[in-house]
Amino acid sequence: MLRQRRARILATLGPSSSTPDQIYALALAGADVFRLNFSHGSHDDHAARYHAIRNVERDIGRPIGILMDLQGPKLRVGRMAGGRAMLETGSRFRLDLDPQEGDATRAGMPHPEIFAALRPGTDLLLDDGKLRLRVDACGADFAETTVMAGGALSDRKGVNVPGVVLPISPLTAKDRADLAFGLELGVDWVALSFVQRPEDIVEARGLIGDRAWIMAKLEKPAAIDALDGIVQLADGIMVARGDLGVELPPQQVPVLQRRIVHAARAAGRPVVVATQMLESMTAAPVPTRAEVSDVATAIYEGADAVMLSAESASGQYPVQSVAVMDDVIREVEQDPRWRDGLDASHQSADKTTADAICCALRRVTNLLAPAATVTYTSGGATCLRASRERPSAPILALTPHSAIARRLALVWGVHPVAFQEAEGFDRMVADGVAAARFHGLADAGDDVVVVAGFPSGRPGRTNLLHVVRVGEEGAP
Ligand code: PGA
Ligand code: MN
Repeated sequence: MLRQRRARILATLGPSSSTPDQIYALALAGADVFRLNFSHGSHDDHAARYHAIRNVERDIGRPIGILMDLQGPKLRVGRMAGGRAMLETGSRFRLDLDPQEGDATRAGMPHPEIFAALRPGTDLLLDDGKLRLRVDACGADFAETTVMAGGALSDRKGVNVPGVVLPISPLTAKDRADLAFGLELGVDWVALSFVQRPEDIVEARGLIGDRAWIMAKLEKPAAIDALDGIVQLADGIMVARGDLGVELPPQQVPVLQRRIVHAARAAGRPVVVATQMLESMTAAPVPTRAEVSDVATAIYEGADAVMLSAESASGQYPVQSVAVMDDVIREVEQDPRWRDGLDASHQSADKTTADAICCALRRVTNLLAPAATVTYTSGGATCLRASRERPSAPILALTPHSAIARRLALVWGVHPVAFQEAEGFDRMVADGVAAARFHGLADAGDDVVVVAGFPSGRPGRTNLLHVVRVGEEGAP
């Protein structure tokens, strides 16, 4: 059972979506990849969801990706006396390392490295930007601030420091423990929160190696400044609009979304547009028109995937939320303007043999309108370069590695299938065509394009494009 659309759906699991039946229903409705959000839930919760997904995958017979999302260095204030205090606009407020409970004049902030990075004039945002403090004076263990926008501050609320590159790793001690746990389970993707620098990806790669692909969540202004370097080093990108819209004025989010999607597509990195896409569906069975339009916009931009957070994790209508995304994507992908837009936003490829073949693939599919492309891919690279071209025919990705097939479940236009490597050219063509027929992508009389490296078994050697008419490919 293959998806009838190119863009993919990433659904976060949580209390509303953790039983095997619920997960099965989400996959049936259209979820291609599931997110385990390590900001919430215990290891036992995540392990149970992980195993339930793998069982659903077996029942459905299609690779399903699992993305673990690390909490990252989410800064927080300490506890407050009585749980909360009222900060008056214009008053003075002190942050320090004192573990005592806070009040209307001060609070603890147990992050010494942050104090070192502050300067007079720096703004601190509290509780998703609802409160704002401006630093007047600071030292190694304190900051004296003026309350620019007051309000109630309660226990352990988050702190954002938008303008500053903080001297902290995107991997906290908790993240490292979570990561070891997730890799042991066998997750396919690892998402890094609050990435600031390209070196953050390098650090994570040192721990992860090739056990999973790394997705950089772009939610800090510093990461936007280093966009190209991060896109080059990461395997995938998330436009994390929730925190991005706290760290920066919200009106910049749509502008940055376009810039990030453009950069990721240019580099051939799968890109996910995330957060609040169907927010009202946490409590209503139908979306607002504006939300539908938001999902559609991401699809017109050519994003690989759109994501559900609370809608599927803790909302009242998880399955309906996935179904709405599925409907919107399929509707947009019928629009000739969608295709025109993808062609217009196409960006030139690298000077490599693989990219030359994939450029040719795009031209060939435009001219011949074949039923499918079949790519043989061992590490996934060929398939990513083919998807980068956003060719008009769906891409059947045959890979001998089920882990690679699962990672590719997030990628635009790709139908990954774990498949025995074919030996020899005739075999490769015949098996590829047979697979396309078996999976319902092609029928007798259709054209199929085969893209591969020949001789096979040498990763990264894509050098062949072969057009074949189904039924005339020669005896297997
Ligand atoms: P989060 O990331 O849901 O883990 O915060 C996404 C975002 O910030 O948009
Ligand atoms: Mn975030």
